Amino acid sequence: MNSPRTEPGQPLLQVENLQKHYAVRGGLLARTTAVLRAVAGVSFEVMPGQTLGLVGESGCGKSTLGRTLMRLEEPTEGRVLFQGRNLAEAKGDELFALRRQMQMVLQDPYSSLNPRMTVGEIVREPLLVHRIGSKAEQVDRVSSLLQTVGLAPEVMTRYPNEFSGGQRQRIGVARALALDPQLVIADEPVSALDVSVQSQVLNLMLRLQRERGLAYVFISHDLSVVQHMSDRVAIMYLGRIVEMGPVDRIFAAPAHPYTRALMQAIPTPDPRRRRERVPLQGETPSPTALPDGCAFAGRCPYAVDECRRTPPALMPLDAAAAPARQHVVACVRRSELPAFDPLAGG
Ligand code: ADP
Ligand code: MG
Repeated sequence: MNSPRTEPGQPLLQVENLQKHYAVRGGLLARTTAVLRAVAGVSFEVMPGQTLGLVGESGCGKSTLGRTLMRLEEPTEGRVLFQGRNLAEAKGDELFALRRQMQMVLQDPYSSLNPRMTVGEIVREPLLVHRIGSKAEQVDRVSSLLQTVGLAPEVMTRYPNEFSGGQRQRIGVARALALDPQLVIADEPVSALDVSVQSQVLNLMLRLQRERGLAYVFISHDLSVVQHMSDRVAIMYLGRIVEMGPVDRIFAAPAHPYTRALMQAIPTPDPRRRRERVPLQGETPSPTALPDGCAFAGRCPYAVDECRRTPPALMPLDAAAAPARQHVVACVRRSELPAFDPLAGG
């Protein structure tokens, strides 16, 4: 199962100006067609063995980005490089080999596992597709993968509907690991689970990362989950990354007004505190009609005219920081904002 490993210092995944647009029907009688920019120009890197957390409200393009990274959808524009190789140019055997290295874990453990296949068949399927090992070797591997995720090998003959949400997600993780990938794109992997079960699955993912040197793109709308899982965090708003940096910096000193508003909206156990918090004001623009300037300007307490004119680029807050410590933000007012107060209203 040996696969080429990434050179030291080389990113595992490089995403360059990735865009994914959809043509959508709108208006009266659905006659007009508009372009929906679900992913509107996204760039980032993921180093081997590291986790990039991708956070943002529902509809901001996280899942579309994940699917486009996997090349389950063709990008409208931009490039995805895996170990320096352009996924869009890879064909045939090379694409097949690259696909092995990248696997996905999906949100809904109820719909993502085929109900007519046994657990053993589900976990074994990638090995069959990629023709890895003899039948006996495949069954052995399935058995050890199930143990790795905390399930007894005997569950092989049972069907997904016999399992709880948390157990199903363990099966989904075992399947994702079958080909010994280097990168797992996890799209809201615990969002459908009870809170009590979430941390078990998250801790399993962290252990597997340590043991196997896995890299994750960890997608979630839940900031506390992202904080727990990530080395670096990217915040998405309407198809773009508005802020990205090391997890400790993002949570201690969020720089974008949108990131700050998201953090101030994290519920706290104290109900009095909760009431003091002002939720985000204003409407999110439609992704079919993104404004010319900053997409957040209409909801931003700090917006000035310039924000509405110019789309802000991601700029470093400290240009002298080492690359792994770079903290970038897309806000023209980044150096003028007051210090972040986690308890203030958005
Ligand atoms: P998230 O995962 O952050 O909730 P999605 O990536 O699912 O966001 O969706 C981003 C935007 O793209 C939404 O406005 C959604 O309606 C739209 N979208 C997603 N998939 C399609 C599709 N296949 N066709 C048209 N629009 C889509
Ligand atoms: Mg989604």
